[in-house]
Amino acid sequence: MEMSKLMGKCGAGIASAWNGMKRTAGNTKQDGKIADAESEIARMTREIGNLTVLKLDEGLDLGEEVQERYDAIRAAREMIAAAEADKKHTRVTCPHCGHRTSAKMRFCGVCGKEL
Ligand SMILES: [Zn+2]
Repeated sequence: MEMSKLMGKCGAGIASAWNGMKRTAGNTKQDGKIADAESEIARMTREIGNLTVLKLDEGLDLGEEVQERYDAIRAAREMIAAAEADKKHTRVTCPHCGHRTSAKMRFCGVCGKEL
């Protein structure tokens, strides 16, 4: 092959590879924009959800489908409150140093004295 033809072929190959890279970079840019917009939608949907729960707390009626889910939220809140209360009862304060520790422990993990 003549040197000039070889150079031409190489040039075409490089140009094609470059265009491919530009296309990939362009797609990556578009994918980034799409991902950003999707995460913005997800964030706003969550915020709308939180705002709606506040309205439901105030007694807003949004129909059965929403009410069902709101009831589940209230049940979960009660579960959390019960678990938090339970946590408090299973923890004791060391009478020697004041460290809060599990009621299951026989000795304080900080001062080592019997609880
Ligand atoms: Zn202690």
